[in-house]
Amino acid sequence: MKNIAILGSTGSIGTQTLDVISRTEDFKVTALCAGSNAGLLEKQIRRFHPQVAVLYDKERARQLASAVSDLPVRVLSGMDGLVEAAGLPETDVVVTAVVGMIGIRPTMAAIKAGKDIALANKETLVTAGHLITRMAAEHGVRILPVDSEHSAIFQSLQGQHYRKIHKILLTASGGPFRGMKRKDLEKVTVKEALQNPNWDMGPKITVDSASMVNKGLEVIEARWLFDAAPEQIQIVVHPESVLHSAVEFEDHAVIGQMGPPDMRIPIQYALYYPQRYPLDVQPLDLFQTAQLHFEAPDLDTFRGPAFAYEALRAGGSMPTVLNAANEKAVALFLAGKIRFLEIYDIIAECMAAHTVIPDPDLQDILNTEEKTYHFIQNRWK
Ligand code: NDP
Ligand code: MG
Repeated sequence: MKNIAILGSTGSIGTQTLDVISRTEDFKVTALCAGSNAGLLEKQIRRFHPQVAVLYDKERARQLASAVSDLPVRVLSGMDGLVEAAGLPETDVVVTAVVGMIGIRPTMAAIKAGKDIALANKETLVTAGHLITRMAAEHGVRILPVDSEHSAIFQSLQGQHYRKIHKILLTASGGPFRGMKRKDLEKVTVKEALQNPNWDMGPKITVDSASMVNKGLEVIEARWLFDAAPEQIQIVVHPESVLHSAVEFEDHAVIGQMGPPDMRIPIQYALYYPQRYPLDVQPLDLFQTAQLHFEAPDLDTFRGPAFAYEALRAGGSMPTVLNAANEKAVALFLAGKIRFLEIYDIIAECMAAHTVIPDPDLQDILNTEEKTYHFIQNRWK
């Protein structure tokens, strides 16, 4: 029996994690946390009986507390609540499935408390990868990737020697706008950006997939998870999303992981690691897929990866600027306030204006996030 806490239980990854958990008797839920969705969180509390539930929104947390006053659950709120829920003594694994940099402090709290991390919240590794990996080593905890590509790389490395990685082949679906040119992207709508061909995900990462900023963030995520140099990470566009990523070793043998595009597979792999267990999902049918395609990414049109390689080269606080600028830009795009291509303009301007802080600590990272938001507010009124 493993005790699991989920940060972001009401989202795409969170609900799929609970779906995996609900299929066996092998897990117990200790904590469930969300931003503001009190209705769904109440249903989850009644179904999974956590000791602690957190809503970041204080008013909604008060409403939730009175709605579940018949149950022995403690309802907390705000960042303090998330941090406390992440470090509960009973928990073995914390699933970090919140969206955005809000995940940094709870993830650090979980590591300090000695919890293994099933990591979906890539923004945390992108901005604080140097701190998170150092802390995980100090506290002897494992960072188990949930992101499908990184889970595939992780699975491909089992039984191998990490130092013998020659190259990581990081696959990308290409998103809904694959094949389009800059001119075509001028008028794309929010609705169009929210249509990923293969994956059903939360809105922020779906827009990130359309802009390929997601793939850029994943390059940085891979750099930290697998201690790979940026030039060892090659993005390969693979529209069928069947090969979830691969590793090329020094003898040029390539080992990859294939499967249906279903996030419950990497989620379950992280929860049970190092074991593999049965999972009832639609299996891959290669005769139906028939053909797999691989293409080089169009990095002039989809600028996300170029920003990531540039941020890695600059190092220090620059990946935080990329991530924070993107978080704010995507929020503005989803709110209908900017056009799709302006996401790139905002990121480019923020990165150009930033003076790198080398080896930033947590406070530097949070200050950099804040400054980036201010810069955008003043510049794009
Ligand atoms: P969703 O938008 O579907 O869900 C986000 C979750 O975070 C919700 O539970 C939301 O709660 C919660 N949340 C938002 N703000 C706060 C806050 N301030 N405090 C506490 N909780 C908060 O996102 P996804 O599930 O798609 O993505 C989650 C993370 O996983 C992201 O980092 C994403 O990049 C990564 N990821 C996702 C994949 C996917 O298939 N979805 C694949 C690979 C990685 P509420 O519902 O109340 O707003
Ligand atoms: Mg991914």
